[in-house]
Amino acid sequence: MDNIVIFGAPGSGKGTYSTALVKEFGYNHISTGDVLRAEIKAGTKLGKIVKGYIDQGQLIPDEHMIDILAGVYDSMLDGPGVIFDGFPRTIVQAKALKDMLQERGEKITITINLNVSEDVLMERLLRRAKIEGRADDNEETIKKRFKVYYNQTYPLIEWFKNEGVLSEFTFKGDTNLIIKEIIDKVASL
Ligand code: AMP
Repeated sequence: MDNIVIFGAPGSGKGTYSTALVKEFGYNHISTGDVLRAEIKAGTKLGKIVKGYIDQGQLIPDEHMIDILAGVYDSMLDGPGVIFDGFPRTIVQAKALKDMLQERGEKITITINLNVSEDVLMERLLRRAKIEGRADDNEETIKKRFKVYYNQTYPLIEWFKNEGVLSEFTFKGDTNLIIKEIIDKVASL
């Protein structure tokens, strides 16, 4: 089974490229952001805990995330693979993911790191705010999310490199081109 991690700064296109990979290869898709927003919408106990963090642009504490992730992953074990979109976001989560996969006889197949300039990211997120109305897509919270990304998630690049699973993709202005590059890479695994 393929276990694909897709990661990059807020607005880097994780959701878009995950959807393209789902369409091409029939993978299951875990978007931790979507899972959390669904919990908030359903008004669950977990939803009430996480809302404040998301609205502030902060990460949800690792222990909540790891429990959520294992539960969702176990419901997807009969498919061709899983895309992890938005997880891990910290070194603790990355280690937990590695352990969780190991316990199930699995491992990370590839990590897709998306490089996009900060100007493009901000422009995309502000455009998305108008279309989707996400509470955390306003300029102030976006800036906090960038900071959180560089402090807590960016160091994962080095971690994934050491694990021998890092593959980097740079957005050069053409979404279809980067989608093709990513699909070609995954097809060659
Ligand atoms: P996203 O939709 O991936 O941009 O996630 C939106 C928000 O959900 C983030 O800004 C965090 O507050 C929270 N979140 C999503 N995934 C994680 C994660 N793996 N760890 C902690 N918080 C997360």
